[in-house]
Amino acid sequence: MRVLVINSGSSSLKYQVRETSTGELLLSGLVEEIGSGEVPDHGAALDLVEEHLQAEFGGDPELEAVGHRVVHGGERFSAPVMIDYEITRAIERLAPLAPLHNPAHALGIRAIMRKWPKLPQVAVFDTAFHRTLPEHAWRYAVPNELYTEHGVRRYGFHGTSAQYVTARAAELLNVPVNRFDGIIAHLGNGASITAIKGGRSIDTSMGYTPLAGLVMGTRSGDVDPSVLTQLMIRGEYTAEQLDTLLNKDSGLKGIAGTNDMRAVIARAAEGDEEAELALAIASYRVQKYIGAYHVAVGGAQALIFTAGIGENSWQFRERVCEGLGAIGVKLDRMANVEKSREPRVVSTEDSAIAVLVVPTDEEAAIADQTAELVTAAGPHDTGRH
Ligand code: AMP
Repeated sequence: MRVLVINSGSSSLKYQVRETSTGELLLSGLVEEIGSGEVPDHGAALDLVEEHLQAEFGGDPELEAVGHRVVHGGERFSAPVMIDYEITRAIERLAPLAPLHNPAHALGIRAIMRKWPKLPQVAVFDTAFHRTLPEHAWRYAVPNELYTEHGVRRYGFHGTSAQYVTARAAELLNVPVNRFDGIIAHLGNGASITAIKGGRSIDTSMGYTPLAGLVMGTRSGDVDPSVLTQLMIRGEYTAEQLDTLLNKDSGLKGIAGTNDMRAVIARAAEGDEEAELALAIASYRVQKYIGAYHVAVGGAQALIFTAGIGENSWQFRERVCEGLGAIGVKLDRMANVEKSREPRVVSTEDSAIAVLVVPTDEEAAIADQTAELVTAAGPHDTGRH
Protein backbone atom coordinates (compact mmCIF):
# COMPACT_ATOMS: atom_id res chain seq x y z
CA MET A 1 0.00 0.00 0.00
CA ARG A 2 1.26 3.47 -0.82
CA VAL A 3 1.09 5.52 2.39
CA LEU A 4 1.79 9.19 3.00
CA VAL A 5 3.33 9.53 6.47
CA ILE A 6 2.85 12.95 8.04
CA ASN A 7 4.46 14.55 11.06
CA SER A 8 2.59 17.81 11.38
CA GLY A 9 4.12 20.42 13.68
CA SER A 10 2.96 23.93 14.36
CA SER A 11 5.35 25.54 11.89
CA SER A 12 6.64 22.55 9.94
CA LEU A 13 5.32 19.49 8.16
CA LYS A 14 7.52 16.46 7.58
CA TYR A 15 6.36 13.85 5.13
CA GLN A 16 7.32 10.59 3.50
CA VAL A 17 5.71 8.37 0.95
CA ARG A 18 6.26 4.67 1.65
CA GLU A 19 5.34 1.49 -0.17
CA THR A 20 4.51 -0.91 2.64
CA SER A 21 4.61 -4.13 0.60
CA THR A 22 8.34 -3.62 -0.02
CA GLY A 23 9.19 -1.28 2.85
CA GLU A 24 10.49 1.17 0.29
CA LEU A 25 10.85 4.88 1.01
CA LEU A 26 9.67 6.53 -2.21
CA LEU A 27 10.03 10.17 -1.29
CA SER A 28 10.50 12.45 1.68
CA GLY A 29 10.34 16.16 2.33
CA LEU A 30 9.85 18.96 4.77
CA VAL A 31 7.81 22.15 4.59
CA GLU A 32 9.00 24.81 7.01
CA GLU A 33 7.91 28.24 8.17
CA ILE A 34 4.22 27.47 8.11
CA GLY A 35 2.44 30.63 9.27
CA SER A 36 4.80 32.87 7.32
CA GLY A 37 3.81 34.91 4.28
CA GLU A 38 4.69 32.23 1.76
CA VAL A 39 3.07 29.30 3.55
CA PRO A 40 0.20 30.86 5.49
CA ASP A 41 -1.29 27.63 6.89
CA HIS A 42 -1.25 23.83 6.83
CA GLY A 43 -3.49 23.81 3.76
CA ALA A 44 -0.87 25.79 1.86
CA ALA A 45 1.85 23.46 3.17
CA LEU A 46 -0.12 20.54 1.80
CA ASP A 47 -0.36 22.23 -1.59
CA LEU A 48 3.46 22.19 -1.65
CA VAL A 49 3.48 18.52 -0.67
CA GLU A 50 1.05 17.80 -3.51
CA GLU A 51 3.27 19.63 -6.00
CA HIS A 52 6.28 17.61 -4.85
CA LEU A 53 4.32 14.36 -5.17
CA GLN A 54 3.04 15.26 -8.62
CA ALA A 55 6.51 16.22 -9.82
CA GLU A 56 7.95 12.99 -8.48
CA PHE A 57 5.23 10.56 -9.55
CA GLY A 58 4.12 12.33 -12.71
CA GLY A 59 0.52 13.34 -12.03
CA ASP A 60 -1.51 11.11 -9.73
CA PRO A 61 0.62 10.03 -6.75
CA GLU A 62 -1.85 7.17 -6.14
CA LEU A 63 -1.88 7.53 -2.39
CA GLU A 64 -3.98 4.93 -0.61
CA ALA A 65 -3.80 6.16 2.98
CA VAL A 66 -2.26 8.75 5.29
CA GLY A 67 -0.58 7.88 8.59
CA HIS A 68 -0.05 10.62 11.16
CA ARG A 69 2.49 10.65 13.92
CA VAL A 70 0.56 11.89 16.96
CA VAL A 71 2.59 12.62 20.07
CA HIS A 72 -0.10 12.25 22.72
CA GLY A 73 -2.86 9.67 22.87
CA GLY A 74 -3.61 10.25 26.55
CA GLU A 75 -5.30 7.38 28.35
CA ARG A 76 -7.75 6.70 25.58
CA PHE A 77 -5.58 5.48 22.72
CA SER A 78 -3.67 2.24 23.13
CA ALA A 79 -3.41 1.46 19.41
CA PRO A 80 -3.60 3.23 16.04
CA VAL A 81 -7.08 4.39 15.02
CA MET A 82 -8.88 5.36 11.84
CA ILE A 83 -9.39 9.11 11.96
CA ASP A 84 -12.80 10.75 11.72
CA TYR A 85 -14.14 14.04 13.04
CA GLU A 86 -14.62 12.74 16.55
CA ILE A 87 -11.08 11.32 16.71
CA THR A 88 -9.67 14.61 15.45
CA ARG A 89 -11.51 16.42 18.24
CA ALA A 90 -10.23 13.88 20.76
CA ILE A 91 -6.63 14.46 19.61
CA GLU A 92 -7.22 18.19 19.98
CA ARG A 93 -8.74 17.82 23.43
CA LEU A 94 -5.47 16.26 24.59
CA ALA A 95 -3.77 19.62 23.99
CA PRO A 96 -3.25 20.31 27.71
CA LEU A 97 -0.94 17.26 27.78
CA ALA A 98 0.96 18.17 24.58
CA PRO A 99 0.34 21.85 23.85
CA LEU A 100 3.06 22.13 21.23
CA HIS A 101 2.11 19.01 19.34
CA ASN A 102 -1.50 17.83 19.40
CA PRO A 103 -3.15 21.01 18.11
CA ALA A 104 -0.63 21.05 15.25
CA HIS A 105 -1.42 17.40 14.44
CA ALA A 106 -5.13 18.29 14.24
CA LEU A 107 -4.34 21.10 11.79
CA GLY A 108 -2.53 18.62 9.53
CA ILE A 109 -5.36 16.10 9.74
CA ARG A 110 -8.01 18.71 8.87
CA ALA A 111 -5.94 20.04 5.95
CA ILE A 112 -5.86 16.53 4.49
CA MET A 113 -9.59 16.02 5.09
CA ARG A 114 -10.18 19.14 3.02
CA LYS A 115 -7.73 18.31 0.27
CA TRP A 116 -8.31 14.56 -0.08
CA PRO A 117 -11.61 13.92 1.71
CA LYS A 118 -11.80 10.26 0.68
CA LEU A 119 -8.30 9.25 1.66
CA PRO A 120 -8.39 7.13 4.84
CA GLN A 121 -6.32 8.64 7.65
CA VAL A 122 -4.81 6.82 10.61
CA ALA A 123 -3.38 8.26 13.83
CA VAL A 124 -0.38 6.46 15.33
CA PHE A 125 0.31 7.58 18.89
CA ASP A 126 3.73 7.91 20.48
CA THR A 127 2.23 7.03 23.86
CA ALA A 128 0.11 4.03 22.78
CA PHE A 129 2.72 1.28 23.20
CA HIS A 130 3.13 2.26 26.86
CA ARG A 131 -0.54 1.75 27.73
CA THR A 132 0.44 -1.73 28.96
CA LEU A 133 2.39 -0.32 31.92
CA PRO A 134 1.08 -1.67 35.23
CA GLU A 135 -0.47 0.96 37.48
CA HIS A 136 2.38 0.82 39.99
CA ALA A 137 4.69 1.94 37.18
CA TRP A 138 2.50 4.73 35.81
CA ARG A 139 1.13 6.23 39.03
CA TYR A 140 3.15 8.85 40.86
CA ALA A 141 3.07 8.88 44.65
CA VAL A 142 1.14 12.14 44.82
CA PRO A 143 -2.42 12.84 46.00
CA ASN A 144 -5.00 11.03 43.88
CA GLU A 145 -6.67 14.21 42.72
CA LEU A 146 -3.62 15.12 40.67
CA TYR A 147 -4.37 12.04 38.63
CA THR A 148 -8.16 12.12 38.66
CA GLU A 149 -8.52 15.87 38.14
CA HIS A 150 -5.43 16.69 36.10
CA GLY A 151 -4.35 13.49 34.37
CA VAL A 152 -0.99 13.55 36.12
CA ARG A 153 0.60 10.14 35.52
CA ARG A 154 3.40 8.57 33.52
CA TYR A 155 2.44 8.34 29.84
CA GLY A 156 5.79 7.63 28.20
CA PHE A 157 6.84 8.50 24.65
CA HIS A 158 8.92 7.01 21.79
CA GLY A 159 6.41 4.15 21.84
CA THR A 160 6.26 3.69 18.06
CA SER A 161 10.03 3.36 17.98
CA ALA A 162 10.10 1.00 20.97
CA GLN A 163 7.47 -1.26 19.40
CA TYR A 164 9.30 -1.36 16.07
CA VAL A 165 12.66 -2.05 17.67
CA THR A 166 11.17 -4.75 19.90
CA ALA A 167 9.88 -6.61 16.83
CA ARG A 168 13.24 -6.31 15.01
CA ALA A 169 15.19 -7.45 18.08
CA ALA A 170 12.98 -10.50 18.61
CA GLU A 171 13.45 -11.39 14.94
CA LEU A 172 17.21 -11.03 15.23
CA LEU A 173 17.35 -13.25 18.30
CA ASN A 174 14.86 -15.66 16.77
CA VAL A 175 12.42 -15.58 19.69
CA PRO A 176 8.66 -15.00 19.42
CA VAL A 177 7.98 -11.38 20.28
CA ASN A 178 5.63 -12.36 23.12
CA ARG A 179 8.54 -14.22 24.75
CA PHE A 180 10.94 -11.35 24.41
CA ASP A 181 12.21 -9.60 27.55
CA GLY A 182 14.58 -6.71 26.99
CA ILE A 183 15.59 -3.13 27.54
CA ILE A 184 15.46 -0.54 24.78
CA ALA A 185 17.75 2.47 25.05
CA HIS A 186 16.44 5.01 22.55
CA LEU A 187 19.26 7.52 22.62
CA GLY A 188 18.76 10.46 20.29
CA ASN A 189 18.43 14.16 20.91
CA GLY A 190 15.42 13.05 22.93
CA ALA A 191 16.26 9.92 24.91
CA SER A 192 14.27 7.32 26.78
CA ILE A 193 14.64 3.79 27.99
CA THR A 194 11.90 1.17 28.04
CA ALA A 195 11.50 -2.14 29.86
CA ILE A 196 9.95 -4.83 27.67
CA LYS A 197 8.44 -8.00 29.14
CA GLY A 198 6.76 -10.51 26.86
CA GLY A 199 7.03 -7.99 24.03
CA ARG A 200 5.09 -5.34 25.96
CA SER A 201 6.18 -2.14 27.59
CA ILE A 202 6.10 -2.44 31.38
CA ASP A 203 8.05 0.69 32.30
CA THR A 204 9.60 3.64 30.57
CA SER A 205 11.71 6.57 31.65
CA MET A 206 9.76 9.48 30.17
CA GLY A 207 6.78 10.47 32.25
CA TYR A 208 3.96 12.98 32.24
CA THR A 209 6.07 14.81 29.65
CA PRO A 210 9.20 13.83 27.71
CA LEU A 211 11.36 15.70 30.23
CA ALA A 212 11.79 12.82 32.67
CA GLY A 213 14.45 10.13 32.78
CA LEU A 214 17.70 10.16 30.84
CA VAL A 215 20.05 13.06 30.20
CA MET A 216 19.16 14.30 26.71
CA GLY A 217 20.50 16.78 24.16
CA THR A 218 18.87 19.78 25.83
CA ARG A 219 16.62 18.19 28.50
CA SER A 220 17.76 17.51 32.02
CA GLY A 221 15.99 14.22 32.58
CA ASP A 222 15.34 13.39 36.25
CA VAL A 223 15.90 16.18 38.77
CA ASP A 224 14.53 16.64 42.26
CA PRO A 225 11.22 18.52 41.79
CA SER A 226 12.11 20.74 44.75
CA VAL A 227 14.73 22.37 42.57
CA LEU A 228 11.84 23.96 40.73
CA THR A 229 9.58 24.78 43.63
CA GLN A 230 12.40 26.25 45.71
CA LEU A 231 13.68 28.46 42.91
CA MET A 232 10.13 29.67 42.30
CA ILE A 233 9.33 30.20 45.98
CA ARG A 234 12.48 32.27 46.30
CA GLY A 235 11.38 34.28 43.29
CA GLU A 236 14.60 33.54 41.40
CA TYR A 237 12.87 32.13 38.33
CA THR A 238 9.38 32.01 36.90
CA ALA A 239 7.73 28.72 35.97
CA GLU A 240 8.13 29.58 32.28
CA GLN A 241 11.83 30.29 32.68
CA LEU A 242 12.39 27.00 34.47
CA ASP A 243 10.40 25.16 31.84
CA THR A 244 12.71 26.57 29.16
CA LEU A 245 15.81 25.97 31.28
CA LEU A 246 15.04 22.29 31.82
CA ASN A 247 13.74 21.56 28.32
CA LYS A 248 15.98 23.65 26.10
CA ASP A 249 19.15 24.58 27.99
CA SER A 250 19.95 21.51 30.06
CA GLY A 251 21.21 18.01 29.33
CA LEU A 252 24.41 17.76 27.27
CA LYS A 253 24.00 21.40 26.29
CA GLY A 254 23.71 22.55 29.89
CA ILE A 255 26.92 20.83 30.94
CA ALA A 256 29.07 20.76 27.81
CA GLY A 257 27.61 23.70 25.87
CA THR A 258 26.35 21.65 22.91
CA ASN A 259 23.56 19.14 22.37
CA ASP A 260 25.49 17.41 19.59
CA MET A 261 26.87 14.14 20.93
CA ARG A 262 29.50 13.98 18.19
CA ALA A 263 30.95 17.28 19.39
CA VAL A 264 30.78 16.21 23.04
CA ILE A 265 32.68 13.00 22.31
CA ALA A 266 35.28 14.78 20.18
CA ARG A 267 35.90 17.37 22.89
CA ALA A 268 36.09 14.81 25.67
CA ALA A 269 38.71 12.95 23.63
CA GLU A 270 40.75 16.18 23.53
CA GLY A 271 40.60 16.44 27.30
CA ASP A 272 37.72 18.90 27.72
CA GLU A 273 36.55 18.36 31.31
CA GLU A 274 33.00 19.62 30.84
CA ALA A 275 32.47 17.32 27.87
CA GLU A 276 33.90 14.41 29.86
CA LEU A 277 31.56 15.19 32.76
CA ALA A 278 28.56 15.37 30.43
CA LEU A 279 29.41 11.92 29.07
CA ALA A 280 29.91 10.54 32.55
CA ILE A 281 26.57 11.85 33.82
CA ALA A 282 24.65 10.76 30.72
CA SER A 283 26.13 7.24 30.58
CA TYR A 284 25.78 6.70 34.34
CA ARG A 285 22.09 7.64 34.11
CA VAL A 286 21.57 5.06 31.36
CA GLN A 287 23.37 2.42 33.45
CA LYS A 288 21.15 3.11 36.46
CA TYR A 289 18.01 2.63 34.41
CA ILE A 290 19.38 -0.55 32.85
CA GLY A 291 20.02 -1.95 36.32
CA ALA A 292 16.51 -1.03 37.41
CA TYR A 293 14.80 -2.41 34.31
CA HIS A 294 16.84 -5.61 34.35
CA VAL A 295 15.10 -6.24 37.67
CA ALA A 296 11.73 -4.99 36.38
CA VAL A 297 11.65 -7.44 33.45
CA GLY A 298 12.91 -10.33 35.56
CA GLY A 299 16.21 -10.58 33.70
CA ALA A 300 16.61 -9.09 30.26
CA GLN A 301 17.59 -11.25 27.29
CA ALA A 302 18.79 -8.24 25.39
CA LEU A 303 19.85 -4.64 25.73
CA ILE A 304 19.12 -2.70 22.58
CA PHE A 305 20.66 0.57 21.46
CA THR A 306 18.78 2.67 18.94
CA ALA A 307 18.31 6.25 17.58
CA GLY A 308 21.03 8.76 16.60
CA ILE A 309 23.45 8.13 19.45
CA GLY A 310 22.48 4.53 20.15
CA GLU A 311 22.94 3.51 16.52
CA ASN A 312 25.98 5.57 15.63
CA SER A 313 28.13 6.15 18.67
CA TRP A 314 30.28 3.14 19.48
CA GLN A 315 31.96 5.30 22.12
CA PHE A 316 28.76 5.95 24.03
CA ARG A 317 27.69 2.31 23.82
CA GLU A 318 31.09 1.29 25.15
CA ARG A 319 30.86 3.74 28.05
CA VAL A 320 27.42 2.44 29.03
CA CYS A 321 28.37 -1.23 28.75
CA GLU A 322 31.61 -0.81 30.68
CA GLY A 323 29.54 -0.24 33.81
CA LEU A 324 27.35 -3.31 33.34
CA GLY A 325 29.78 -6.08 34.29
CA ALA A 326 27.80 -6.83 37.46
CA ILE A 327 24.83 -8.02 35.38
CA GLY A 328 27.06 -10.03 33.06
CA VAL A 329 27.13 -7.73 30.03
CA LYS A 330 30.18 -8.33 27.85
CA LEU A 331 30.57 -6.07 24.88
CA ASP A 332 32.46 -7.37 21.85
CA ARG A 333 34.63 -4.31 21.35
CA MET A 334 35.47 -5.18 17.76
CA ALA A 335 31.86 -5.83 16.74
CA ASN A 336 30.82 -2.66 18.56
CA VAL A 337 32.99 -0.39 16.39
CA GLU A 338 31.89 -1.88 13.07
CA LYS A 339 29.67 0.39 11.01
CA SER A 340 26.44 -1.02 9.64
CA ARG A 341 22.82 -0.03 8.97
CA GLU A 342 21.58 -3.53 9.82
CA PRO A 343 20.31 -4.83 13.16
CA ARG A 344 23.23 -6.62 14.76
CA VAL A 345 24.66 -8.21 17.91
CA VAL A 346 27.63 -6.39 19.47
CA SER A 347 28.17 -8.53 22.57
CA THR A 348 30.35 -11.60 23.03
CA GLU A 349 28.84 -15.08 22.89
CA ASP A 350 29.18 -15.53 26.65
CA SER A 351 27.55 -12.21 27.52
CA ALA A 352 24.68 -12.84 29.96
CA ILE A 353 22.60 -10.24 28.10
CA ALA A 354 22.86 -9.84 24.32
CA VAL A 355 23.70 -6.28 23.34
CA LEU A 356 22.08 -5.26 20.06
CA VAL A 357 22.18 -2.24 17.80
CA VAL A 358 18.85 -1.93 15.99
CA PRO A 359 18.22 1.08 13.74
CA THR A 360 14.79 2.52 14.43
CA ASP A 361 12.42 3.71 11.72
CA GLU A 362 9.33 5.42 13.10
CA GLU A 363 8.01 6.36 9.67
CA ALA A 364 8.20 2.77 8.43
CA ALA A 365 6.36 1.66 11.56
CA ILE A 366 3.68 4.32 11.07
CA ALA A 367 3.26 3.35 7.41
CA ASP A 368 2.98 -0.36 8.30
CA GLN A 369 0.47 0.21 11.10
CA THR A 370 -1.55 2.49 8.83
CA ALA A 371 -1.64 -0.08 6.03
CA GLU A 372 -2.62 -2.82 8.45
CA LEU A 373 -5.53 -0.85 9.89
CA VAL A 374 -6.80 0.39 6.55
CA THR A 375 -6.64 -3.13 5.11
CA ALA A 376 -8.53 -4.50 8.12
CA ALA A 377 -11.16 -1.78 7.73
CA GLY A 378 -12.00 -3.23 4.33
CA PRO A 379 -12.41 -1.87 0.82
CA HIS A 380 -12.87 1.83 0.44
CA ASP A 381 -13.03 4.43 -2.27
CA THR A 382 -9.84 6.39 -1.82
CA GLY A 383 -10.83 9.02 -4.37
CA ARG A 384 -7.28 8.71 -5.62
CA HIS A 385 -5.32 11.78 -6.48
P1 AMP B 1 18.27 11.66 16.75
O1 AMP B 1 17.48 12.61 17.61
O2 AMP B 1 17.85 10.24 16.89
O3 AMP B 1 18.37 12.11 15.31
O4 AMP B 1 19.78 11.72 17.32
C1 AMP B 1 20.52 12.90 17.32
C2 AMP B 1 21.77 12.70 18.14
O5 AMP B 1 22.57 11.64 17.59
C3 AMP B 1 22.69 13.93 18.21
O6 AMP B 1 23.15 14.12 19.53
C4 AMP B 1 23.85 13.52 17.32
O7 AMP B 1 25.05 14.16 17.72
C5 AMP B 1 23.93 12.05 17.61
N1 AMP B 1 24.71 11.34 16.59
C6 AMP B 1 24.44 11.14 15.29
N2 AMP B 1 25.48 10.49 14.70
C7 AMP B 1 26.42 10.27 15.64
C8 AMP B 1 27.71 9.67 15.68
N3 AMP B 1 28.25 9.13 14.59
N4 AMP B 1 28.38 9.66 16.86
C9 AMP B 1 27.85 10.20 17.95
N5 AMP B 1 26.64 10.78 18.00
C10 AMP B 1 25.93 10.82 16.87
